[in-house]
Amino acid sequence: MTPSPPTPSPRLSPPSVSLKMDVVVIGAGQAGLSAAYHLQQLGLVPYQGYVVLDGAAAPGGAWQFRWPSLTLSTVNRIHDLPGLSFAQTAGEHAAQVQASVAVPQYFEAYERTFHLPVVRPVRVRLVTGHGHRLKIETDRGDLSARGLINATGTWETPFIPALPGADRFRGRQLHTRDYRDAQAFAGQHVMIVGGGISALQLLDEISKVTSTTWVTRRPPEFREGQFTEEAGRAAVALVEERVRHGLPPRSVVSVTGLALTPAVEAMQARGVLTRLPMFSEITEDGVRWADGSEQHADVILWCTGFRSSLDHLAPLGLQGSEGGIQMTGRLATQVARDPRVHLVGYGPSASTIGANRAGRSAAAELMTSLGLP
Ligand SMILES: Cc1cc2nc3c(=O)[nH]c(=O)nc-3n(C[C@H](O)[C@H](O)[C@H](O)COP(=O)(O)OP(=O)(O)OC[C@H]3O[C@@H](n4cnc5c(N)ncnc54)[C@H](O)[C@@H]3O)c2cc1C
Repeated sequence: MTPSPPTPSPRLSPPSVSLKMDVVVIGAGQAGLSAAYHLQQLGLVPYQGYVVLDGAAAPGGAWQFRWPSLTLSTVNRIHDLPGLSFAQTAGEHAAQVQASVAVPQYFEAYERTFHLPVVRPVRVRLVTGHGHRLKIETDRGDLSARGLINATGTWETPFIPALPGADRFRGRQLHTRDYRDAQAFAGQHVMIVGGGISALQLLDEISKVTSTTWVTRRPPEFREGQFTEEAGRAAVALVEERVRHGLPPRSVVSVTGLALTPAVEAMQARGVLTRLPMFSEITEDGVRWADGSEQHADVILWCTGFRSSLDHLAPLGLQGSEGGIQMTGRLATQVARDPRVHLVGYGPSASTIGANRAGRSAAAELMTSLGLP
């Protein structure tokens, strides 16, 4: 039997969704849900005054796509969204539960509890200026808004550095977001590139089933002891400073260093933390450093991070001469060049706690600047 083609989602249309909104939120991850909660608390009417458009087919933001071995005991911490605690929905054996299961369940309960107007799947293709309003073009029709809270995260924009020879490589190249299970690499030599938390976690898992080489751009800095709240605030402040000056944000982890956890100490003891500097070229069957030395690899796993998913905002010309988007406002969520636009879950707010705060601040500032309600 020939499978029938998927039924296209209906176009956005009144009366269920007003096509002329006060505020549109793009993205229903932690940042978008926090913003939605506060817009509603501040008096905007769901579906008529504001709406949340989400490209994913189901609740959960990017968490629904994270690899299965990322459990609630291996993530840093998922902060509660305002008004409903995560623990209430996470269930009994919370620590062992997969983040890709528990967080989507939490977000689903959250959307339901507060009757948030999330419409999905709706992919925003472009946002353009249209007189005093913003035109939001989606795969289900267009709508317009006076203000925009963009909360599209980073998951859909994996970053892989361009290196000579990448197209010659006969093995497999993957990015963190493609990773599912270490067993898939058994018997192959895996080159893991990157110095962040994800690189370390995947190196830990993969090195237990096969041989690995670890490569990072800079020598990794391990930090002893607990990561204090002050250290967290200082790291966020550094990223905030960058975006306030119009520089591209760096990840918060890049300025905090890596925690010397028991898992990391066990890796040191197993001898898998011997790090090599970045290679300069990819060959047919591995990599080559500038001094001519080579290493065979069957797989190159790029744990080289993500960039903010902002392509749909390109027509607004938000980027400045410093290469980033200059941010202003109380928590640096407001775009200096176009104050109608707020970016949440971006730069200093790219964490679950930061996204929470940014959602609240952006909702309040945008409502005030638009003279709402
Ligand atoms: C592997 C990994 C582990 C992490 N672990 C932690 C941790 O332990 N603790 C912590 O605090 N933070 C962690 N973070 C960071 C954290 O996940 C995010 O900063 C936080 O969840 C905020 O998410 P968000 O709402 O910005 O984005 P997301 O959760 O990515 O949500 C964005 C939403 O926008 C939608 N979207 C994107 N583009 C469009 C479009 N054009 N049109 C419509 N919809 C669109 C997507 O479908 C998605 O649903 C981790 C990040 C990664 C990558």
